[in-house]
Amino acid sequence: MSPYVVTATKKRSPLNNNYIDIILPLGISGTYTYSVPRNIQCPQRGMRVLAPLGNKTVIGIVYRIYSTLPIGVQEDKVRSIFSVPDSLPIVTEKQLALWEWVSEYYMSPIGNVMDAALPAKATDKIYELDKTKRRVKIPVYTDEIEPIHPLTDQQARAKQEIEALWQTKDVVLLHGVTSSGKTEVYMHLIEEQLQTGKQVLYLVPEIALTTQLTDRLQKVFGEQLWVYHSRVTDAQRMEIYRQLVTDRNTPRLVIGARSAVFLPLQNPGLIIVDEEHEPSYKQVDPAPRYHARSTAIMIAHQNGAKVLLGTATPSIESYYNALHGKYGLVEMKERYAGLQLPRITLIDLQRQYHRKEMYGHFSDPLVDRIREELSKGKQIILFQNRRGYAPLLVCEQCCHIPKCPNCDVPMSLHLHAGQIRCHYCGEAQPIPTTCPDCKGKLKIQGFGTERIEDELYKYFPQARIARMDLDSTRNKDDYQSIIRSFSRHEVDILIGTQMVTKGLHFNDVSLVAVLSADHLFNIPEYYSYERAYQMLEQVSGRAGREGQQGEVIIQTWDPKHPVFNYLKGHDYEAFYSEQIGERATYHFPPFHRIISITIRHTNAGLTQAAAELLQQQLKIVFGSRCSELVIPGIVRIQRFYLRQIKLKIEATSNLKKAKQLLQQQIDKLLQQKGLRSVQILTDVDPL
Ligand code: ADP
Ligand code: ZN
Repeated sequence: MSPYVVTATKKRSPLNNNYIDIILPLGISGTYTYSVPRNIQCPQRGMRVLAPLGNKTVIGIVYRIYSTLPIGVQEDKVRSIFSVPDSLPIVTEKQLALWEWVSEYYMSPIGNVMDAALPAKATDKIYELDKTKRRVKIPVYTDEIEPIHPLTDQQARAKQEIEALWQTKDVVLLHGVTSSGKTEVYMHLIEEQLQTGKQVLYLVPEIALTTQLTDRLQKVFGEQLWVYHSRVTDAQRMEIYRQLVTDRNTPRLVIGARSAVFLPLQNPGLIIVDEEHEPSYKQVDPAPRYHARSTAIMIAHQNGAKVLLGTATPSIESYYNALHGKYGLVEMKERYAGLQLPRITLIDLQRQYHRKEMYGHFSDPLVDRIREELSKGKQIILFQNRRGYAPLLVCEQCCHIPKCPNCDVPMSLHLHAGQIRCHYCGEAQPIPTTCPDCKGKLKIQGFGTERIEDELYKYFPQARIARMDLDSTRNKDDYQSIIRSFSRHEVDILIGTQMVTKGLHFNDVSLVAVLSADHLFNIPEYYSYERAYQMLEQVSGRAGREGQQGEVIIQTWDPKHPVFNYLKGHDYEAFYSEQIGERATYHFPPFHRIISITIRHTNAGLTQAAAELLQQQLKIVFGSRCSELVIPGIVRIQRFYLRQIKLKIEATSNLKKAKQLLQQQIDKLLQQKGLRSVQILTDVDPL
C-alpha cells in the first residue's frame, strides 16, 4: 500500500521523533503518514489517534510506526497528530491482520474495512475507551434459565461426528433437513465451549428475523449471551465492543448478523454460521463486499478455532468443499420426533386460467385446501416474494409504464399507502390516475403481498390474517409482534415475503402455499436454480409439526421445471449433482472465481466510453477470462448509469495476481483525462 500523504497547512514542531501511518475510515486506498510530537508518547499499533485532515479533526487507527521519516515522504508535508485518547489499542493485532485480509481479498481500501468493522462510536471524538465513567448497560436476559434439551440419537451422533472431524479439519458442514434439530446440536457444542472458558460467535443471516432463536438461546445461556443487533443502540454496540476487546477471559456467546465477524473476540473456540447458504452473508454495498462465511473461516484459522456451517440446503460451493474433503460433512436426514417432510403438490396455472378455475390469484384447489385447513383450526403460511400491491402499472392504450425518475425500473404500486414507489431508491409518488403520456387508463399488472392480503379478506372473510414484509415491519417491534401473535394462534393465515421462510417453527401450520414460483427462476444468474431450490425447500420446511405430515402447494406456469422434481423428493443430493455438472461445463464457481467490475457515472456517454476502454484493456491482459461489456438488466440506479465486466478466473490459478493486474488497469484508466469522476466498483465472488 503506498502511503498517502496529506498536505500540511500548519507548521510542525521541530522536535518530532516518531512517524506513524494511520488508517482513516475513508474509501481511499492506502494509509496516511503523520508525525507524533515529542510531548505525546508514541501510540502502539491498533490505537486510536486524533489527527487533522483538511480543516477537520478525525480519528484514525495506528497502522505502522517509524522512528525516522519514512522513505518517499516529504517532511514539510507531514502534519502532527493532536492526541492519543486511549491507553490501549482498540484494534488487536489479529483484527488488523483480518482487516488486511478483507482489504486484500475483496479489493477494498482498508479504510472501508475500518468503517465496516468499528462501531460508529469508536470514531466519535469524545468517546474514550478506558475511562469507565458513564458506561451504558448491555441488556442482558436475567430471567429464569431453562435446561438444555437432551439430544436425540441422531443429534448425539451428529455432534460426535462433528467433534471427530474437527480433529483434522477446521470447518464442518452440518447438512440437516429442516427441523432435524440443528439448533439443539449447536447449543450442546456451545455449552462445551463456554465451559472451557472459550467464546462463541453465532452468525445468523438477519438478526431481526431471529426472535424465536434468540428467545431460546437466552433461556439456556442467560447473561452469557449478547445479542448484537440493529435494536442495540450505538452506545451499547460500543460497550459490547469495548468489553470484548478488554476482557479475554469471560466465556461469552455473541449472536449477530454479518458485521459481527468484526467483533474483537479474544478467545474464540467456535464460530457457527447458521443457514450458511443465505446470500445476505455477502455485503453488496458499500465496500468491503465481504462474505461473512469466508471471513469466519479466516478468523478461525487465525485463532485455532473451529467453524460449523449449518443448513438444510447447502450452498453448492460449501457442499462441493465438503464432498472434496476441504470441509468435514455431517448429515441429519430425519426430522425431530419422527415428523415427515411435507408433501409437495404443483398446480399448473396455465391450465387453471384456461379453465377459468381461479379466484383472483388463488387457484380453485388452493382455495379448497385453505378452507379445509381453516375449518380444522389449522394455520396457513402463504409465500409471495414481492412486496407492495403490484410490481407495476401499465397504460391500456399506449403500454406506457410509469418508471422511477432515478432508476430504470417500474414504480411498484403500494395501494394501502396510496403511493407508487421505487424499490431501488425509495422514490415515492402519489398514484397517477391516468397515463401521464396519453391520459389512457392505467391497469394493475402482477401482484405482491398487499394484493394477496386484500384477496384473502375477500375470499375468507372469517379468517384472521397478518402480513409480514418490509413494509409491515418498519417499526422495531413489528416483526416480533407478528411472529408472537402467529405463534399464539391469534392469526390463521400469515402472508409474507422471504421473511417467512427463515427458520421459524409453528405448531399448527399444516399448509404452506407458494402463490407464484416462477419469478424465482427468472434471475439471469448462474445461481438462480440454487436460490429457487433453497427458498422453496426452506419455506416448505415451515409445514407440518407434531405427528402430521404437512402439505406444500406451489402454483406455477411451468410445472415441468426440473427444480420441482428434486424438490418433490426433497432430494438435495440429486439437485446438487445436476447443478455441479452445469457449473463445471459453463465455468462457474466453485470451478472458476468471478470478479465483477461495475462502471458507473451519472453521464450515460461517459459510462459507456469508460467501460469500453476498460473492457478493451482487460481483454488484452486477461484474454478469454474477460467477458464482453455487460449491459445490466437495470441500466440506471439512483441516477447512475451502469455497465459491467466480469472476469472468470480458474479456481486453481493465482487469484491474487489477477486482482493486482485488474487493479493496475483500473488505476491506469482512472488517471486518464476526463475519466477521474468515473466510479469503478469491484466485487470478488459476487452474489
Ligand atoms: P432445525 O434448526 O434443524 O430446523 P431446530 O433445532 O430448530 O431444527 O428444531 C426443530 C424443533 O424441534 C424445535 O422446536 C426444537 O425445539 C425441537 N427439537 C429438536 N430437537 C429436540 C430435542 N433433542 N429435544 C427437544 N426438542 C427438540
Ligand atoms: Zn428509483
